[in-house]
Amino acid sequence: MAVPLLDLKRQWEEVGREIREAIEEVLKSQWFILGPQVKELEEEVASYCGTKYAVGVASGSDALLLALKALGIGPGDEVITTSFSFFATAGSISRSGAKPVFVDIDPLTFNIDPSLIEPKITSRTKAILPVHLFGQCADMDPILEIARGHNLAVVEDAAQAIGSEYKGRRAGSLGTLGCFSFFPSKNLGGFGDGGMVTTDDQELANKVEILRRHGGSIEYHHSMIGYNSRLDTLQAAILKVKLKYLDGWTERRQENARYYDQALRDLSEVETPPDLGFGRHIYNQYTLRAKRRDELKARLQEKGIGCKIYYPLPLPLQECYRSLGYKEGDMPQAERAAQEVISIPIFPELSQREKEEVVGAIRDFYGGSSPISA
Ligand SMILES: *Cc1c(COP(=O)(O)O)cnc(C)c1O
Repeated sequence: MAVPLLDLKRQWEEVGREIREAIEEVLKSQWFILGPQVKELEEEVASYCGTKYAVGVASGSDALLLALKALGIGPGDEVITTSFSFFATAGSISRSGAKPVFVDIDPLTFNIDPSLIEPKITSRTKAILPVHLFGQCADMDPILEIARGHNLAVVEDAAQAIGSEYKGRRAGSLGTLGCFSFFPSKNLGGFGDGGMVTTDDQELANKVEILRRHGGSIEYHHSMIGYNSRLDTLQAAILKVKLKYLDGWTERRQENARYYDQALRDLSEVETPPDLGFGRHIYNQYTLRAKRRDELKARLQEKGIGCKIYYPLPLPLQECYRSLGYKEGDMPQAERAAQEVISIPIFPELSQREKEEVVGAIRDFYGGSSPISA
């Protein structure tokens, strides 16, 4: 039996009717740019994340860019970030004009290793940009302490972590600003691109709002050089419907994760994602560390079981960053992760049979016995 890595059609079956109605309402109003649903969603996301403000933007990548620009970051500045993430994390720093400065990861969580940050701080450093990878928060307390000590901003890349928690506080409310993505494969996904910036700082929220519409709050008067980066009213209307279901979907992802944790626990060649006790992990991905990873991937693919390598090449080793001078061996943990990680299906609508199929294929590959039946 084939098992997809993600099947959004099942979610559509659940919420399609309600979403059609929400879309119809926008179509009737013809208010496509910054319609009332955008403001409503902003208020709901701010409350969901525990921040005073939220500003809808065109994508998660732009959320990062506009957050950095709102902080006044640009050419000549440096921003410290992780070596192991989706490209947009680093790309957004570069698009702001600043230089990304990469730090290796903690091998357990795949998130930035806080103990390696301080030596990378220079007089040009303006911010630290941790990523809550796969839906688990980075270890924020030491990061926030370092930031306070050096007067640096903290921009959270929470693109994969909406609703994730660290010691009782939600992703997006921990740093100076939080950045979210509504790309369709994220836990809260739109029907196209979308993003949001969260913050408790009114001045920064205002700046992001101005930056998303060409740098002006009064029509045709521009205080800054901004962007065209608004969240569409249509996307906001769709996301408003989906947000009501998000916690239920998250619980199902967590149940799927518990099943895999149990069913793969005894395999010595596989490490399941550890729980460090920081709080709620929302499992945008369920990522294993696996011996003979490439062979396992080929076997799963042969059987039609969805899997993917997030991510095969650390950020400092990307071709476009060759001029920054990083070389193999600089980020041993990120490089090892790139060789060993593999993500398997975790989406909320997975059936028990499908989960058993995934587990069976992995156990079969490692010569383990048949899956533990629940
Ligand atoms: C998806 C993602 C982004 C970018 O979001 P887009 O909406 O696709 O622009 C940034 N960082 C991380 C970690 C992501 O997973």
